[in-house]
This record gives sequence, C-alpha cells and structure tokens, in this order.
Amino acid sequence: MKSPFGLLSLVVITCLFAQSSLAGELRLATFAIDASPEVGSPLAYDPTKEVTWPLSCRGVVLTGADKPIVLCAVDWIGIANDSSRLFRQKLADATGTTIDRVAVHTLHQHDAPRCDFGAAKILAKYNAEKVHYDVEFLHEVIDRAAAAAKASLQTSTSITSLAIGAAEVNDVASNRRMLDAEGKVAITRYTACKDPKIRSLPVGVIDPMLRLVTFYQGEKPVAVITTYATHPQSYYRTGGANPDFPGMARDMRQETTGVFHLHFNGAGGNIGAGKFNDGSRENRQVLADKVADAMRRAWESQTKTPITADDVGWNSVAVLLPAAAHLDGEALAKEIASEATPPALRGHAADKLSFSNSLKSGEKITIGCLSLGDTRVLFMPGELFVEYQLAAQQMRPDQNVLMAAYGDYGPFYIGTRIAYWQGGYETSERATNVSPEVEQVLTTAIATLLEVPDTQVRPNDFTDTTGPGLPQ
Ligand SMILES: [Zn+2]
Repeated sequence: MKSPFGLLSLVVITCLFAQSSLAGELRLATFAIDASPEVGSPLAYDPTKEVTWPLSCRGVVLTGADKPIVLCAVDWIGIANDSSRLFRQKLADATGTTIDRVAVHTLHQHDAPRCDFGAAKILAKYNAEKVHYDVEFLHEVIDRAAAAAKASLQTSTSITSLAIGAAEVNDVASNRRMLDAEGKVAITRYTACKDPKIRSLPVGVIDPMLRLVTFYQGEKPVAVITTYATHPQSYYRTGGANPDFPGMARDMRQETTGVFHLHFNGAGGNIGAGKFNDGSRENRQVLADKVADAMRRAWESQTKTPITADDVGWNSVAVLLPAAAHLDGEALAKEIASEATPPALRGHAADKLSFSNSLKSGEKITIGCLSLGDTRVLFMPGELFVEYQLAAQQMRPDQNVLMAAYGDYGPFYIGTRIAYWQGGYETSERATNVSPEVEQVLTTAIATLLEVPDTQVRPNDFTDTTGPGLPQ
C-alpha cells in the first residue's frame, strides 16, 4: 500500500514496540521531591532571590505491565539534550527499566531553572556557565529524584480501576499568533498582554479541554494525572521561584483532594493566557483558580472502569528531528566565544549549540505513548504547537487522547509547516531549532503510536490561515 508519508524515507525512525507482556499485578508508586533552587542559584533569566512557592519534581512508576513505566514532571523551564537523556537514564536505572520507558517533562515555568549540561559545559570554557546553570544543584535534583523513584517502589499500591474525565477551562488559553489579512503573523500576543486592543482579538485556535486520568485501588483514588495546553506564565522575572498558575492549581487540588496529582503541560507552544492576562500580580491567583476549577469539574466528571496490567502498554518511537537551516554550529560557537556577546545571548547560543551537537552525534528524541485501556497519553518534545494535540485527537476519535509536551527541550519551538511561512516569534531563527519538515516527522511518529499509519490528518490543517483581522 502506498504510504502517505512520502518523506518517511528521509527520516530515521525506529520502532520500539513493546514485546507482549507477561503481565503481573498492576501497581503504581508515586514520588515527589523539592526542586527549588537555593538563593543566588540561577533561574531561567535571573538569580533566585527567594522561593515564593516551592518547585516540585514528581512522578509515578507503573509496574506489572512488562518493565516499569516512569512518568515525571518538573517545575522548571526546560530540560534539554544530554540533561534529558541523563535524567531519564537515572530514573530508568533506579526503577529497573529502560530509558525508552521513561518520560521526563517540564511545566515550563519561567521563574524556574533551566537544565542543559551540554550548554553549561560549552559556557564553562569561557567561565560563563554560572550565570545560567547551577550544575551541581541540577545533578543533585536528578539524583534525589532517582533515589525517590527507587524508594517509592517499596510502597506501591495495587491498581484495580481507571477513571477518565475532562472539563473545559474557561478564559485561560488563547492563541499567541495574531495574523494579518495575508495570513502572516502581525502581532504576538505574549503570555501577559497589557494592550486591551490585542486582548480583545479572538481566542484563536486552542484546545480548551483539561483532561484527567485517575488510578484507583477499589474506591480509593491513588493518583491523578492531568494535562492542559498553555504557557504557564502570569508574570515573571521576579527572582522568586514559583510554579506559576498551573502548578499552583495542581498543588491546590492535591491539598483539597489528598490525592497525588501529576500535571503535564500539553502542546502549548503557541498558546498563552495573554487574552485573559494583563500581567497584574493579582491575576496569577485568578488564573490558578480557573485551572483548579476545571480540575475539580474534570474530577467530578470521572467515569471508572476496571483495569488490569493487560490493559496497560507502552510504545515508543525514536526520531531524528530535522535541523533548522539557520542552525549553524560554527557561527554559534563564535558568538559564544566573543566577549562582546551579552550574557543572555551567550546562554541562548550555548543552548542552541547544545541541540546542534546532539543532532550531529545522531541523538534521537524518544516519543512515548502510554496505553490505558482506550486512553492514550502521548509524550512529546519541545514547545509544541497545539495543532499537534488537536491532530492526534482527530486521528483517533474513538480513543481518549491526552498529550504532554515539553519533554526534551532541545528543539525549542516546534511549529506546523505553514507556521514557518507565517512568521512570528515562535518560528523565528531565535526561537526554533528545527525546520518545517519537523511536522512530517512528528506526524508519522504520532500516527505510528496511535496505530493509524495511513491517516490523512495533519497538524497543519488545524492552523488558522485567514487571520482574525487586526484592530485599527
Ligand atoms: Zn515558551
């Protein structure tokens, strides 16, 4: 049969479908550690002055369905390249599984650390790494997370049922890319938007749904996983480490329900609260309350079905992402070496060079898919556009498809094909490290994992091309 993926031959893609399992009893363990930096340690853009709300690194380990499956979410801006691989390998070693069965994601908060050991090593040559990376602290968190994951296996709980739920989040997510009549991006509606005219523009393409999965032992809820696609910023650059409104909502819900709560950011690369956020201090709690309210309604909408280890599976594909044409290792190395380069740009260039080096050494990015009965949870890299999430759902309307993005942060923003032509911040040379062909690679990976290899659904088809018109 003719494959719709004409470009597939150009793509190195490896399938690591799980062998049929010798299923045992399905069990779940939870772990959580503090991931807040010390005062003076770098956040993404500034040194830490204080911890205003603790950052967390938390996860679950599912055992009984073949080798363990580890899902982990960290309140940091991003974990990239060799750091992502090391984090996953250490969690794999600690729990007796393989790296392809471990997903480590961030929630992408901005008053939070970044993690890229390759970039730190490049900067260290010029004695410039300490502004951007507290390498010792980052390693220490990874080691503590691995130890906590290992210890959690001693207190795992048998799982007998799974519940799914969903609720619309009201007035939080909005598309950041405002188009002109030609269909080009004319205005970026950033996560905080002071201009009422720009806030008045339409919401645009988003996924308004917060999705939820709960694991039960009998009548007792053991752990809940939620996903929602948006940049998490209300305001930032305060020097106060905090998990911003999605992390606050998660923590508030865990406090209320007493149930371990693991939240993932969906494909929110081109999504932010800008339409509903003027950046005022008080609006952070307002946004947190809106997300927490959707978490509550999703929780109340749950329908429960029995589950055994036979209903649980993990598949993954490893993809080599196509480098952006502008990703020039030599030019980046020169920029980093120059004393004239301002510290922020130097750090940014080192991050880009780290990704370029990863690609050059043939490092692939693992995309995972957790199967829980008719539910699928996809684990994706980068600052992924929401269209990938909408496309994945449309590929399998018969299933309940959740998506976590912000896995390996190396690629930065990942647009749809046409988004690169449309312009705007996210697909600029500064903000993306991959080429428009990335859509084909990731579409193939998603279709493979959702077992619809001949699908005609494309993320590109969900991109707005006409534009809402701009204010006069
Ligand atoms: Zn971002």
